[in-house]
Amino acid sequence: MNKVVFITGATRGIGRQIAITFARNGYDVAINYRKENEDLLSTIKEIEKNNVKCFPVQGDVSNFDDCERFTKQIVEKFGKIDVLVNNAGITKDTLLMRMKEEDFRNVIDVNLIGTFNVTKNVIGYMMKARFGKIINISSVVGVSGNAGQTNYAASKAGIIGFTKSLAKEVASRNINVNAVAPGFIETAMTDVLKDNIKEEISKTIPLKRMGTTEDVANVVKFLASDESAYITGQVINVDGGMLM
Ligand code: NAP
Repeated sequence: MNKVVFITGATRGIGRQIAITFARNGYDVAINYRKENEDLLSTIKEIEKNNVKCFPVQGDVSNFDDCERFTKQIVEKFGKIDVLVNNAGITKDTLLMRMKEEDFRNVIDVNLIGTFNVTKNVIGYMMKARFGKIINISSVVGVSGNAGQTNYAASKAGIIGFTKSLAKEVASRNINVNAVAPGFIETAMTDVLKDNIKEEISKTIPLKRMGTTEDVANVVKFLASDESAYITGQVINVDGGMLM
C-alpha cells in the first residue's frame, strides 16, 4: 500500500513541485485546489505519469468547513493521510502605513488560520494511526521580518510558533511536525518583481541565485522520510544562505 501525502495549494509553484516529487517517490497524492483550471489539469497529468493515484480536492483553506469536507473526502478515498504539507499561501505586500485591515486579515486567514484549519482536521487521523509527518511552509521572512510584509511575516512567524507547539503536543504519538522556510524561490509569487530587482536580491544571496521549487520540494521529501525520523519542531531554511 502506497503512502499518502496531502498538499494544499498544489496547482502551481512550490506546491505543484512537492506533489510531483512525492509522486515520483511512489506516494499516492491528494492535492487541494481552489478553481479548476489548466494548472490543475497539468499537475494531475504530471502526477499520474508516475503510476500513482492523484485525488484532487476543491476548497479554500481559510474556510474551516471546506477543510473538514475535503479531509473526509481524502480519508474516504485513501483510508489515511501519512504526510500533510501546508503549502497554500498568499502575499498582499505594502507598507503598514498603507495597509488596509482587510489585507492584514486576508493574509493571516489564508496562511496561518488555513494551516490551523487543515491540520486540525487531519491530526485526529494521524493520532489514531500513531504515525504522521506534518510539514508547514513558512518563510525566511517569518524569522527575519521584511519591510512591506508585516502581514505576511506575522503569518509566517505564526506558523513557526504553531509548528513548535504542535510538535511538542504530538511527539508521543510518533508524529513529526516541522517547518520549511524558503528564501527567494522562482515562482509566480516572486515573478511580480522586476528582473533588475531579482538580480539585485540574488547578489545578496551567498549561493548567488534564486532557489528553485525543486530545492524546496527535496527538503520537504526528506522531512517526510524515515531518514528524518529524529527531527521535529525544527525550521529548516532553504535559502541559499540568505539568513546566515
Ligand atoms: P504561488 O505560486 O502563488 O502558489 C500558491 C498556491 O497556493 C496556489 O496553488 C494557490 O492557488 C494556493 N492558494 C492560495 N490561496 C489559497 C487558499 N485560500 N486556499 C487554497 N489554496 C490557496 O506561491 P509559491 O511561491 O508556490 O508559494 C507556496 C508557499 O511557499 C506559500 O506558502 C508561500 O508563502 C511560501 N513561500 C514562497 C516563497 C517564494 O519565494 N516563492 C518564499 C518563501 C515562502 P490558486 O491558484 O487558487 O491561487
